[in-house]
Amino acid sequence: MIHGKGSKLRSKRHQLKYLNLKMLEVKFLNVNQGDSIIIHWSKPDRLGTILLDCNLTINGNETINYIKDNSITEIDYVILSHPHHDHYSGMVELLDYCISNSVNIKYFLYTGSSQPEMIRTISRASPKASSDIYKLFHSIITHYNAKHFDLGIISVGPNSDVKLNDDLTLTFLSPTFFEEQKFIKGIKLNAYVDSDVKNHPAANWLSTAIKIHTSNWYVLLTSDCLKETLIRLDKTTLRDCEKSLRVAQSAHHGAQSSHNNTFWSKRKKLEDTKIVFSVGDNIYRHPNSDVVKYFEENSFKIHSTNNIGTLKQISINKAVKVVMSHIETFSAPSQHPKYSSDYYGHQEFKIDTNGSFV
Ligand SMILES: [Zn+2]
Repeated sequence: MIHGKGSKLRSKRHQLKYLNLKMLEVKFLNVNQGDSIIIHWSKPDRLGTILLDCNLTINGNETINYIKDNSITEIDYVILSHPHHDHYSGMVELLDYCISNSVNIKYFLYTGSSQPEMIRTISRASPKASSDIYKLFHSIITHYNAKHFDLGIISVGPNSDVKLNDDLTLTFLSPTFFEEQKFIKGIKLNAYVDSDVKNHPAANWLSTAIKIHTSNWYVLLTSDCLKETLIRLDKTTLRDCEKSLRVAQSAHHGAQSSHNNTFWSKRKKLEDTKIVFSVGDNIYRHPNSDVVKYFEENSFKIHSTNNIGTLKQISINKAVKVVMSHIETFSAPSQHPKYSSDYYGHQEFKIDTNGSFV
């Protein structure tokens, strides 16, 4: 009981702190190659919270650590951006932690309704209970059936706005029917259902893109969207967007196939507009050096969750491969004093009503 009282006091103090939060806080946790993003905003009575994706690292589950450290007790939305391992590897553990520690989740939102593993989970016909993606969908369905949270499928139609408070709105920009069709064409259903694949590349088509905005500024989170999605957004939802971009995520950890110069050149930005790479050790050479160069040359302020300026050797299947664990255009942090430790590790941005960083 004493423990219970203590927790309540802690959580109250935390909430008082956040009632002073002027507008929006976006945190890209450093989870190596993958995403764990935390979003907070002020609600009349408490702190609003979104957990977008949850990736495990060798250090454990950073999202759960964050919930513990900050005594979070209410989560408005847990969102799975798309069913790829580097975005969901810690999700089952996160849901179980929240449910068994009375952390209330209102909604779980996801984009994988057409994923074969999801369909098989619902039909309870899967023999592949060992695969991580099956476990994930099994966990989601089990919690939903136990009424631990409501479930929503992100499929963007004409009305994809969620009002967060009087000034702030969240809009889902993707996937639409266009992306869902691309995914279904890409999966070659039979081959996929019979194999134990963790990461089907076509699942990037299911990536949700999110805009959080006021009447004059916005934050853009792109997950692993492909460049075709950016091109679609530039021609549709974001075509005449006169709002100032404050923080954006370079899609798919800075991959070239998820980058489009025209899209980014048409964003209205200010001198301190940030571009964030959520990236870690990988064999794909993310982020792509041309992508980084584009943002550098076009005066975006570059932030990254990984270390800048280190080359690292890792061993994969006994063969030693050199992988980039840094933003390739910088040779060493000491030669680039503007890239101090503030520019890598957890990346946190607090934005006030006027769109200024605080
Ligand atoms: Zn990814």
